[in-house]
Amino acid sequence: MTVWDELVGQSRAVETLQAAAQHARAIVEDPESTEASRAMTHSWLITGPPGSGRSTVARAFAAALQCTGDPVGCGECPGCKSTLARSNGDVADVVTTKVIISIEEVRDLVYQSQSAPSRGRWRVILIEDADRMMERASNVLLKAIEEPPERTVWLLCAPSPDDMITTIRSRCRHVSLRIPPAGEVAELLQRQFDVSPEKAAAAAQLAQSHIGRAKGLLSDDNKIREYQELMTLALSARSTGEAVLNADKLISRATEIESAQQEKDFEKAEASLRRTLGIEEGETPPSHMRHHFTRLKEEQKRQSTRMQRDALDRVMLDLLAFYRDVLVRQLDAQVGQISVGLDNAVQTYATSTSTQQTLESMKQIELGRERLQTNTNPLLIVEAMLTALVPRRLG
Ligand SMILES: [Zn+2]
Repeated sequence: MTVWDELVGQSRAVETLQAAAQHARAIVEDPESTEASRAMTHSWLITGPPGSGRSTVARAFAAALQCTGDPVGCGECPGCKSTLARSNGDVADVVTTKVIISIEEVRDLVYQSQSAPSRGRWRVILIEDADRMMERASNVLLKAIEEPPERTVWLLCAPSPDDMITTIRSRCRHVSLRIPPAGEVAELLQRQFDVSPEKAAAAAQLAQSHIGRAKGLLSDDNKIREYQELMTLALSARSTGEAVLNADKLISRATEIESAQQEKDFEKAEASLRRTLGIEEGETPPSHMRHHFTRLKEEQKRQSTRMQRDALDRVMLDLLAFYRDVLVRQLDAQVGQISVGLDNAVQTYATSTSTQQTLESMKQIELGRERLQTNTNPLLIVEAMLTALVPRRLG
């Protein structure tokens, strides 16, 4: 399977990046070449809404740049595999847990960007949330991308081009992603998992085309049950008192579920790193390979610290989908439902509350999501949100 195969519904972006990777290889193999292609460039800005797979696309491109197999981005060679497993020393993968990427962090990246690739073909600096750089940090970056060393590539990911300052935006080549249609995600799921079209469609729908999540739903039968359990906690309060109690339960349960999942993911990542490096299960990694494991552990530690916020954000997205379904029903629009197994609740809300209330609820959830990105105590955020969601029945 090539590195491009999983990038569902992004054919235009893939075409651009494939051409770039092809050109990048030509540059490496014949530096004297005067090939007129402009397909490759040093700075890229990859944008798209959450769930569109910005970082997956960026990582696939990074892998293709390190690829030595055929076709470019073969998915099988050491360059491809180590990049996908995040163990390629020439690819710096910046995932931040903080609300802001500091100027010191950016300086460090700029420093790294100045050295030639050690083993791979390109030095790649991938910043997953480039929009989290404030102006001063952005200006440090700007200088670096203005005059990059010959073999350095910057891959910046952000929700939209407007999230980056104009001077950076104008120096990057822009690749924009879309949310893949649920149908295409379902097809991918059917190919990869041996499931019925109905089951694949339900998973794609509930995951709102977020491929990683859809796969999670299919690989574990408990997932749908857990989702319904969390939705019930979020929607069952009928008074402020109940909302406060449910907020507490919701947070513990969501955190518990997420942390179990994370543990499984961590084990998988380590196993995959072992395979990439050719180290047997239970065997101690030789000292020259140990830094790969240290890096993986550091990355996992970062993920654990933001685990609760990620878990709660997901619950909020599911809640938004629920109210969207209610709204669709209230407006009698001919659009497919996203929530799974909540038909009765959707129906009850649709008939016993007004569209105005539905819209207000959606606004409150959006507000909760925004506040999650700040340092506010998550319990306070969820309490406020659930309290605001207590339905006021129509007279
Ligand atoms: Zn390859």
